[in-house]
Amino acid sequence: MLLVEDDHVVRGAMLRSLTGRGHAVHAVGTALEALRRVAAETPDLVVLDLGLPDLDGSDALRMLRGITDIPIIIATARDDEQSVVRLLRAGADDYMVKPFTGAHLDARITTVLRRVGRASRTVQPAVHEVGGLRIDVGERSAELDGEPLALTRKEFDLLAYLAARPGRVVSRRELLEEVWQQPSVGEDQTIDVHLYWLRRKMGETAAKPRYLRTVRGVGLRLVVPG
Ligand code: CA
Repeated sequence: MLLVEDDHVVRGAMLRSLTGRGHAVHAVGTALEALRRVAAETPDLVVLDLGLPDLDGSDALRMLRGITDIPIIIATARDDEQSVVRLLRAGADDYMVKPFTGAHLDARITTVLRRVGRASRTVQPAVHEVGGLRIDVGERSAELDGEPLALTRKEFDLLAYLAARPGRVVSRRELLEEVWQQPSVGEDQTIDVHLYWLRRKMGETAAKPRYLRTVRGVGLRLVVPG
């Protein structure tokens, strides 16, 4: 794993503690060294101090996220909720507020690695079947009752996202963020426009829904029509 910490006293203590607990640790003191290191040899996890001399911690996090999806645990002196939420949204897997013990960090590392390991073993099926609907994510093709659906890219993405979560109510915010990769800002017609066409192509309407159910004020749900 990679430990990014500029304070050499803290770094030495953490290095000793983690090594003593059986981790193979490499330590660097700047964000740029961390970026270079991660690009060169993909460690299994990064512990990232936010107070680094060369880059603001949240910028360092964003840049790391730009090149890797390995778990990153933030070590921060800031513990206000807003900055923690911002860091988690920027791609941190977990955070720890300084000062912390080696035992605590070790426990968090174990938890994060276990969670990530489980997630990577849970391979998403490439084909989703919901009632007469068949979505092949790899081939980006969709069929309804054996007939191919001619969908635009976003219509397909929307349908595939819902089909991967059958029966679950998916919020509009989640759809905007995950399917459109844009923040949800107030009233937005983006989803409605695509949904309108998707429904037409699937032979249903908002008034007479079959697969695509609107949950008023919440979001959307894909169900097997009864
Ligand atoms: Ca520091």
